[in-house]
Amino acid sequence: MKNIMFIAPPAAGKGTQAEMVVEKYHIPHISTGDILRDISKEDSEIGSYVRETLASGGLVKDEITYSLIEDRLQKDDCKNGYIIDGFPRNLEQAIKYDEILDKLNIDIGNIILIDIDKDILEKRITGRRLCEECNAIYNINEENSKPEVDSVCDVCGGKLYQRSDDNLESFQNRYNTYMEKTAPIIDYYKKKHLLHTVDGNLDKEQVFAQIERIIEGK
Ligand code: AMP
Repeated sequence: MKNIMFIAPPAAGKGTQAEMVVEKYHIPHISTGDILRDISKEDSEIGSYVRETLASGGLVKDEITYSLIEDRLQKDDCKNGYIIDGFPRNLEQAIKYDEILDKLNIDIGNIILIDIDKDILEKRITGRRLCEECNAIYNINEENSKPEVDSVCDVCGGKLYQRSDDNLESFQNRYNTYMEKTAPIIDYYKKKHLLHTVDGNLDKEQVFAQIERIIEGK
């Protein structure tokens, strides 16, 4: 199976779609955001740096991100394909990613852009909740994404929490950063004929159906 990369603005549903891909195709999900959120819980200098950067909506330093990606891609579970989301986030990171893949002899695979309107993102951002234990994602404002019991994860019973950056102010920062820094990588991959676009305004099953067609080459 080909590797997959998701590109999408914040709260476009890439984490949710990644969970669905993992469940159906049994490949690991590498989310730089998830890895950094784990680091941000550490009681260390790097933990507190990452914690502050995440809360502000800015980007974590490249040297931290590059080494965590390079280490993660060498793990055995990536041999039969993986899905990466949250990286690369700017042109520099995209060029560095090409170098890392070359060095490790890994094919970049399919790149999937989740295209979605900004007003839908704003509605989603305030309702998003994550499981502390297994990172499962819910949305308390959407009937088909609510947990069965308030604040409790359906999957593992863990406690749900709201990300420190899931507020409108931080969202606006992250959205501006996406438009300014991440959007240029769309052209970069378009020129290499690697980009597929799906309509992210639809419900999650319809978005997933489009992703399945890309993965299965239909
Ligand atoms: P996400 O879960 O993808 O929305 O990422 C949450 C936060 O983690 C971002 O707002 C950044 O602060 C940080 N982050 C995630 N991926 C990267 C990356 N590739 N480079 C730098 N910072 C990142």
